[in-house]
Parts: sequence; structure tokens; C-alpha cells
Amino acid sequence: MLGPVILAASRSDRMRRMISAAPGTKQVVDRFIPGETVDEVLPVVRDLTARGLELTMDVVGEDITSPAQAEAARDAYLELIDRLKPLELGTRAEMSVKLSMFGQALDGGHELALKNVRPVVEAAAGIGTTVTLDAEDHTTLDSMFAIHDELRADFPQTGCVIQAYLFRTEADARRLADSGSRVRLVKGAYKEPASVAYQQKHEIDKAYVRVLKILMDGEGYPMIGSHDPRLISITQELARRAGRKPDEYEFQMLYGIRGDEHLRLAAEGHRMRVYTAYGTDWYGYFMRRLAEKPANLRFFVRSMITK
Ligand code: FAD
Repeated sequence: MLGPVILAASRSDRMRRMISAAPGTKQVVDRFIPGETVDEVLPVVRDLTARGLELTMDVVGEDITSPAQAEAARDAYLELIDRLKPLELGTRAEMSVKLSMFGQALDGGHELALKNVRPVVEAAAGIGTTVTLDAEDHTTLDSMFAIHDELRADFPQTGCVIQAYLFRTEADARRLADSGSRVRLVKGAYKEPASVAYQQKHEIDKAYVRVLKILMDGEGYPMIGSHDPRLISITQELARRAGRKPDEYEFQMLYGIRGDEHLRLAAEGHRMRVYTAYGTDWYGYFMRRLAEKPANLRFFVRSMITK
């Protein structure tokens, strides 16, 4: 019940101002977002890779309001890539981007987002790594998939995300499960209407397994973005049935969530990529993490009261 309320608050400017200024917020934010600058996040990159983990890095931000902000987002990723270069991590550190941060919702947004994201994909390829386009709310997805197609024409390794809760996703998965594709499957983190998305957890979980099967039986590279222990076991079983070796798919989890499981799966010989977000515009990302687990909200409220 609380999840949808928190997701609605994630789009409210008033709540953004209140929560950002509240005492105790930073302590809870730090659990999910380990830094505001490249300098703060690079030690985390070194630490995680030294433990056998891989990363996908997100400069947090979304719902920008001017082309200048979209260019600033592009430049923030270019700076990150430049700073990653000497570490020579290749695909062990890739990027995740939200096209809304590159201008997708502005006038002429589709072209603007493509124009701004292309140099990031080019720069990532220049250091031997890739970019994955995150999935935002359902109204943005036709544009995201079209940009993904355009980028793949020049950079075939460009990945994208599909969300199990959407009715459209099985069809998207069939289209995307071609040779060389990289597709992250997640449950979905936005507030979506019943006209386009399953609302019940058990329906979403069942849809996840159906889509997972399509990806595992396909010719692409599935990226399993979930912390759900049941789905992790099912992934291992489906991979076995599809004859996939451990390097023919990967697990992905969010920084700050089930960290022991990251290490356990990596120690078992799986590829485990940690989605590591950093930056100052953390509000939307943080609120989605609260919405996913009401216990986070209780912890958050307690930390505000005890400050
Ligand atoms: P759940 O059933 O929600 O969680 C399973 C268990 O994991 C819970 O019982 C709990 O122990 C733990 N857990 C899950 N979430 C939390 C949390 N926030 N805090 C503490 N514990 C938690 N969504 C999108 O819509 N678009 C994207 O592009 C996108 N990219 C993602 C990338 C990655 C690598 C991951 C892991 C998720 C991404 N998501 C994205 C979020 C996703 O849609 C889900 O909202 C989120 O992963 C929670 O679902 P779950 O599969 O972990 O299962």
C-alpha cells in the first residue's frame, strides 16, 4: 500500500524539498548512493572490482527541464568515462543512463536525447565498455527502444532494460533476444496504471519468469536485474536448461541491497554487476528504493526522529 504513495511523492517538488532538507536523510541516502562526486565514487569502483564484482554506473538525475541540463548530464558521464580510463576495467565498469536526463521529455526530446547520449556511447566504446539504457515510465519506452535501435547500428553492444510488470514486455523481449543483444530484465520501479501493467506481485513475478525464459532461450545476453532469491534460483535453472555457461548471462543488483548475495554469487563463478549510482540529484532514485521496501521507510523515519 505504501509503495504507490512513495512513488507519487517521488514526482513531487514539494516533497523533494522537504526530504532533501530533513535531518537524517543523508545517512539513509548513503546506503544506496555511495557518493556525490566522481572522486567519492572511484574508491567504491576500486573496492568492488577488487572483490570480483563488476559495475554499471549511474550518474543520478532525471526529469530535467532545460537543454543545458541535458548537456550537463552528458558531460558528467564523459567526465566519469575519462576518469575510468586509467583503471583499464573494460566491460567490468559499464554505464547505465536514463534518457530523461539527456532531454527526452523536452521539446524535440527524442532527437535531443539521441544527440546527447551518442557521445557517451562513443566514449564508452573508446575505453572498451558499453552503455545500457535504463527503462523509465511506460510513456518513454517507444522513444527509448528507437534510440536503442539507432545506437546499436553503430554500437551493437548497447544494452537496454525491459520491465516485467508491463504487458508489452513479452513482445519486446522476443524482438530483442537476437544475437549480440544485451538486455536487462527487471520487475519495474515506476507507478504504472492497470491499463498497461500488472499490479499484483505474484502476477509480476510470473511475468518475470515468462520473459526470462524468452531471453534465456534467445541468442542475446540476458542481464538479470533482481534481488529476489526465487528468481535467482529460477535463472540458474533456466540457464542450465538452455545450455548457457556462467559467462553467457549475468546477475545485476543495486548497490546497498543484499551485498552478501553479490559476493556469494560472484564466489560461485557468476558474473555479478552492481548498479552503482552517484551524484547530487539522488531524490527520484532514492524514493524508488524506499518504495520497493517499506522497512526502508521505517528506518528512514526513525533516523529523522533520532537526529
Ligand atoms: P523484490 O521482490 O522487490 O525484492 C526481493 C528482495 O530484495 C526483497 O525481499 C528485499 O530483501 C530485497 N530488496 C529489493 N528492493 C529493496 C530495497 N529497495 N531495499 C532493500 N531491500 C530490497 N527498474 C526500472 O523500472 N527501470 C530500470 O532501468 C531498472 N534498473 C535496475 C537495475 C538493476 C541492476 C536492478 C537490480 C534493478 C533495477 N530496477 C529498475 C528496479 C527494479 O525494477 C525493481 O524495482 C527492484 O529491483 C526490486 O525488485 P526485485 O526484483 O529486487 O524484487
